[in-house]
Amino acid sequence: MACQKCGLCRSRTQAVPGNGDTKADLMFIGEAPGKNEDEQGVPFCGASGRLLSELLASINLSREQIFITNIVKCRPPDNRDPLPNEIESCSPYLKQQVEEVKPKVIATLGRYAMNHFLPDMKISEAHGRAFRRQGQIFVPLYHPAVALYRASMRDELMADFQVINKVLTKLVSEPDLATNQTALI
Ligand code: URA
Repeated sequence: MACQKCGLCRSRTQAVPGNGDTKADLMFIGEAPGKNEDEQGVPFCGASGRLLSELLASINLSREQIFITNIVKCRPPDNRDPLPNEIESCSPYLKQQVEEVKPKVIATLGRYAMNHFLPDMKISEAHGRAFRRQGQIFVPLYHPAVALYRASMRDELMADFQVINKVLTKLVSEPDLATNQTALI
């Protein structure tokens, strides 16, 4: 990826487009690559990623069964928050990934990823709930990094992952859940 659409191209080591099953039912979208991701070119390969793998295992899923990416594909310097123009420049890549993978459920990690799709929502109110927007199901989640410095958040994340599981299970009996009017969970 030789993208030069925003200033992050000057400080990145490499872009981190995303990885996983390109036909996955479940897609995770985080914020932006960190130091490890920038060095390795792999999303969520550091401490947050290890926790993410554990959380996935708690609902009997592995990294190979999901697709994972970020709203911004290049590391912001010093891990600062991505800027609106960086999110905007990168959004065609994300749009294309969502169109190609066609996930049944998008789980957003952290407030930046959530607000990209659900701009009016507050993460403290929306986390662990399921929403329908334009025929797509979203489950906003706290970013796993918060549980690394606040241990109590780990249980909250575990509980929220069960919601993903419930929605995925319900989709088996109601494949049109994203567009019909029945309760999501
Ligand atoms: N945090 C993110 O939001 N994305 C990554 O890829 C790694 C850490």
